[in-house]
Amino acid sequence: MSIKNILCYPHPDLRKKSLAVPVDFDQNKLASIVTDLEETMEKHEGIGLAAPQTALALRIFVVKTKDGVLTWINPEIVSRSLVKESGEEGCLSIPKVFGLVKRPKRITVRAQSMDRKTVLFEATGLYARVIQHEIDHLNGILFIDRAKQITSGENLLKEYEKKA
Ligand code: ZN
Repeated sequence: MSIKNILCYPHPDLRKKSLAVPVDFDQNKLASIVTDLEETMEKHEGIGLAAPQTALALRIFVVKTKDGVLTWINPEIVSRSLVKESGEEGCLSIPKVFGLVKRPKRITVRAQSMDRKTVLFEATGLYARVIQHEIDHLNGILFIDRAKQITSGENLLKEYEKKA
């Protein structure tokens, strides 16, 4: 198990669409990927981390909840509330930059848990926001694409772009 490097914006791999984890994917390999994601997220004090942020283009993410860290594989949002909510987001791949993003307040998600069983669940509030942010990563989308306003670190964002 190991702490992985997190790709930083504007690394081109952050823009790739990740691939579904096949049904016959090796379970030990999956467990090791997930442990690495968890450890990497914890080390950086994040509340969510998607596999492509660690240069692994697979549809997996981990999210911190009040019940502990959860892992979701091949997630899909099957419905979204019409009611949207603005909230401040940041991202381990875009350090020290924050912005206001409007997203549906409540979502229904279909995903596989670690045992590869498909589950359907509802998420609201911060949990719903993190899930949407992480699924965006799986599709090569970053919160700065959706942010109506950068609330902090706008100059930093320009520096990152210049260095690229
Ligand atoms: Zn992120």
